[in-house]
Amino acid sequence: MKAKLDTLSQLSTKAILPPKNMGVARNGFSSISATDNVLTKSQLEQETYKKRAKSKSITNAIVFKLIDLKSPMEHSYWLSWRCNKTLIQQGEKITTRFCNQRWCLQCNRIRTAKQINGYKEPISKLKETQFVTLTIPNVQPKELKLAIEQMNDSLKKIRKNLLKTYKLKLKGLKKVECTYNPQRNDYHPHFHLIIEGKKEAEHLVSLWLKQYPTADIKGQDIRPAKEDSLLELCKYFTKVVNKDQFYPKQMDIIFRAMKGKRTFQPIGLKRIVSEEVEDQIGQEQSFIAPQNEIFCWEQEAMDWISASGELVADFTPTDRHKDYIDRLQNNKQLLKQPNDESRTQEPINNNKSKQLTAEQIEQGIKDFWT
Ligand SMILES: [Zn+2]
Repeated sequence: MKAKLDTLSQLSTKAILPPKNMGVARNGFSSISATDNVLTKSQLEQETYKKRAKSKSITNAIVFKLIDLKSPMEHSYWLSWRCNKTLIQQGEKITTRFCNQRWCLQCNRIRTAKQINGYKEPISKLKETQFVTLTIPNVQPKELKLAIEQMNDSLKKIRKNLLKTYKLKLKGLKKVECTYNPQRNDYHPHFHLIIEGKKEAEHLVSLWLKQYPTADIKGQDIRPAKEDSLLELCKYFTKVVNKDQFYPKQMDIIFRAMKGKRTFQPIGLKRIVSEEVEDQIGQEQSFIAPQNEIFCWEQEAMDWISASGELVADFTPTDRHKDYIDRLQNNKQLLKQPNDESRTQEPINNNKSKQLTAEQIEQGIKDFWT
């Protein structure tokens, strides 16, 4: 069960399709690939690796920009570079390691799938569910950490007040999100909640505005929850790449403010799954013949490759994706960046035959165990 989580993520995404007009997911790509034809079991298994290869290529492209900042989070950014870097095949089983970091797209796919599968049922049992957004006035970087802590405290107070004064118990899920506004150069922390009851939602918003009298009333929102609300809530807590723009310094500020804090929490419901992604995940598969083999990630090939040149995902990136990765890696469309000469680069692969050298294999094994 656990081993198949990102396969489940595909299934869940298909089961909870966003409306057609949504089209583009938060990472700037359509969240649904054009695979509406029925896939065989082994094709579906390989599809998981294709999607993971796509995520990995984006994570790798952004992670060096974060590493370059030399921020206190540098060690954690390196962990994401190693996430899914080495795949070890033993017989039918392929094992890899996950970094469990918030900016990692591979880990987010697993996390989203875990949460959807964990909370689908309890949420479906709630009546008259509402999708609520609570916001505060935008804040400056220095205020962000404290602002998020105060938002959590405010919500706790409101819950107590609702129970004591109105005899209403909040039940549902809460998610903290934070976005960066490049026009205003400030930060927008906010809550999304799925909760039971319209009356509860209305009281919640009015008490929130009492806690935050300067918050814009138009920033608060209540609407009946839809089929895709849970998916919306379970997706990652910040748009790492926003409208094809990536702001490493600003993302680092958000990640630092959220360090050690939960982004996703059940309210008045049992905690079913944690936000954590397991460190090591092994998956049985049938699309590669049983063997003992090591595959290492090659950013240029956007795939995992063995010493004999065998590919795992056989992922064919679209021109748009190739261009996107190229722009992310080379800062083509980006705003001011740290001094370009000192940028940490993906080691250049001169190995055009797409095979791993003995050194690359050795490094891959080292990275797996680090
Ligand atoms: Zn990861």
